[in-house]
Amino acid sequence: MPARIAVTGADGRMGREVIAAANDRDDCDVALAVNRSPVDPVEGVAVDDATNLPALLADSDPDVLVDFTGPDSSVEYVAAAAEAGVACVVGTTGFDDEQEAALADAARTVPVLRASNFSRGVAALRRAVSEAAAALPGYDVEVTETHHNAKVDAPSGTALTLLDDIEAARPELDERVHGREGDSPRTDGEIGVHARRAGDIAGEHEVLLAGDENVLELTHRAGSRRVFAAGALDAAAWLAGRDAGAYDFTEVLE
Ligand code: NAD
Repeated sequence: MPARIAVTGADGRMGREVIAAANDRDDCDVALAVNRSPVDPVEGVAVDDATNLPALLADSDPDVLVDFTGPDSSVEYVAAAAEAGVACVVGTTGFDDEQEAALADAARTVPVLRASNFSRGVAALRRAVSEAAAALPGYDVEVTETHHNAKVDAPSGTALTLLDDIEAARPELDERVHGREGDSPRTDGEIGVHARRAGDIAGEHEVLLAGDENVLELTHRAGSRRVFAAGALDAAAWLAGRDAGAYDFTEVLE
């Protein structure tokens, strides 16, 4: 049986990709799509008013809500899904601590799978970065991400995930230095973090590890947002019917 999905932020860049990708797959059907402002059907799917989400979830009875919106709406939508007993795949980034706690709370009632990046390439990049950081003690590390000019949060959720991975592999790197200006020589414990915003770039992440006469660069480039939508729907199909709890995209790939 295909997983019945509810798509929030249906008129957003990712919401549109998710609906288009679901239309092309046999393992997911779009049971509901909502947006905060009225829009014409997206990829042939009628879009309802997101303010009615609790009632719409009760009527359409989806298996999994797929959310790529903003932190405030994501927390609100996940709470509504938890109340309705609907599992959640969350791709939204930029949550503060209180919002993180609210998502963790929802995972006590329903399955909640989150990822700052739903591409398989970034999952592989994370493994490569952890291995390289551990294998190159003493090397300077800098993380650079590039995204489209409308992205709200910086650095990206994916960059923050990579920074967590690097710090786990090299605990002595305990200071994130964002950008660099004026007199700012490097210190031993720092990781440089750089965020660029331009055009319609779907997402690029580079980790630079540099020692003396020896440099390693690990880079992932998303060619389009389709790759994130495909990963999120893989996650939705995998999550449907599971027990309540917090899940990670790496579990889907394993
Ligand atoms: P977008 O601006 O194109 O679309 C956002 C959608 O969310 C729109 O439909 C908008 O109406 C809705 N929205 C935003 N704030 C809202 C609010 N307060 N109330 C109700 N609706 C609200 O953005 P996008 O490029 O589609 O990205 C959405 C999110 O997904 C961002 O957090 C982005 O970082 C994240 N993202 C994650 C991945 C991943 O693989 N995990 C990939 C791409 C984007």
